[in-house]
Amino acid sequence: MAKASKSLQMRLAALRAFFVSGWMAKLTNLKPLISGVPSRVRSMPKVTTSIYRSREWKEFAADVKRERGSKCERCGSTNRVIADHIKELKDGGAPFDRSNIELLCHAHHQQKTAEARKRRATGIA
Ligand SMILES: [Zn+2]
Repeated sequence: MAKASKSLQMRLAALRAFFVSGWMAKLTNLKPLISGVPSRVRSMPKVTTSIYRSREWKEFAADVKRERGSKCERCGSTNRVIADHIKELKDGGAPFDRSNIELLCHAHHQQKTAEARKRRATGIA
């Protein structure tokens, strides 16, 4: 009986080690996602930046601002208003679709970007 319970304990220990190592592996996988967040603010994917730097985008964004009045659509602030993609390009949003554009002040854009990034990192859509 003592022998049986010992092997059971060993199996439990092995099982526990398996789950702990799996959990650790998951944490390790998550780590680059979380620690990579601040650097992504500085370096967005090339595809995205090239659109935002294009004359086409700048003219399009300026048009939308002119049409709607250059103010935040959430709070009415005129502080550093930018034309923001409601569905971001890296999430498959259409770049030049006016219905995919929301004018945001600096604060609201920061907030929205942070939320989107968090959503992407945690995988909760
Ligand atoms: Zn705002």
